[in-house]
Amino acid sequence: MIVILHPDSSLETPNGQLVLDFLSAKPGITARTHSIKGSDRTLSEIYLIGDVVALDASEIESLSGVEKVVRVSREYRVIGRHANDTRDSGFTYNGVRFDQDSLHVFAGLCAVDNPENVETMLRALKENEQICTRMGAYKPRTNPYSFQGHGANCLPWVFELAGKYGIRVIAMEITHGSHVREIQQALEQTGHPTGVMLQIGTRNTQNFELLKEVGRQTELPVLLKRGFGITLDESLNAAEYLASEGNRNIVFCLRGMKTNMGDPHRNLVDFAHVPVVRHLTHLPVCIDPSHSVGNRNIGPDGLLDVMHITAQGVIAGANMVLADFHPRPEQALVDGPQALHLDELSWFLEDIKIARSAYLARRRRASARHTNVS
Ligand code: PEP
Ligand code: MN
Repeated sequence: MIVILHPDSSLETPNGQLVLDFLSAKPGITARTHSIKGSDRTLSEIYLIGDVVALDASEIESLSGVEKVVRVSREYRVIGRHANDTRDSGFTYNGVRFDQDSLHVFAGLCAVDNPENVETMLRALKENEQICTRMGAYKPRTNPYSFQGHGANCLPWVFELAGKYGIRVIAMEITHGSHVREIQQALEQTGHPTGVMLQIGTRNTQNFELLKEVGRQTELPVLLKRGFGITLDESLNAAEYLASEGNRNIVFCLRGMKTNMGDPHRNLVDFAHVPVVRHLTHLPVCIDPSHSVGNRNIGPDGLLDVMHITAQGVIAGANMVLADFHPRPEQALVDGPQALHLDELSWFLEDIKIARSAYLARRRRASARHTNVS
């Protein structure tokens, strides 16, 4: 059960505290609190776990500090959509809005290699009016002898260059809690020229201790990839781990499933789950066509498979696209063969616009139909 407090009765006020004391005194109930600090007020929610069936929702709703009680009708208490659930979804980070209505493209390097390639990439993004990118500094590699990423050493110059080219959010994978602190320190040290969305990769989707640690900080949002060999439900529960620890600024990313049924693609593309995740949760949904497809094959129609698959995700309502690009793919230290080339960036962005307008037209058509029917 979720108890939503009035905007003027947050947990910082005596009225809000009275509600929390009342609920905490109920036998068999544990209350967890969550507050979202806005510029002029704080919105608070209390999550009740335990013997909630015995609770009387109308009694709780009659308390003066309470705006609404939502009975959790499905799984995923915090991230899920529940009956009569009017909670705000999405978040704003470093001036960029992420929700189920927005669409942002994060084109960039799979792995940071050298300042020249990073700067060439960032310049191209600026020329194409992009404010987000991807840059890997900590790379989880199958082979221990493969390049593992430049780690903390590259962060200051990557952040400074990103700031120089107007990048507001960099998706950056982390594989250990210490990486979060290194990123926070480097942002601090360079004066926050840009922002970072912490990426938890498919190999760590069920690294519960990492999820808890990342979920306990709320400064940086999280891009959680679906696990490549587990069910959607298991991956959504991983997102719930982050949220239950306090960080609700989550984007959920589909990146394909590991099975040779997807051959010749690197993974079996699972973007049919874009609408499913949007239906089950409030989370914005990202697609990663590069790691799904894993090659640069071009079809008889002249379009790359990566572009076809991106369009499939976007036309189904995806809110974010994570894509590997490289100015000199032959020099890339990770995933060069799947990287799109810089002279393909504007074409890729235009193709996404075409798919996005088709999605918006489909959505308008559906909403007109529902209005006429009801
Ligand atoms: C990546 O985005 O660079 C990456 C390693 O992705 P995944 O975790 O989906 O394999
Ligand atoms: Mn990669």
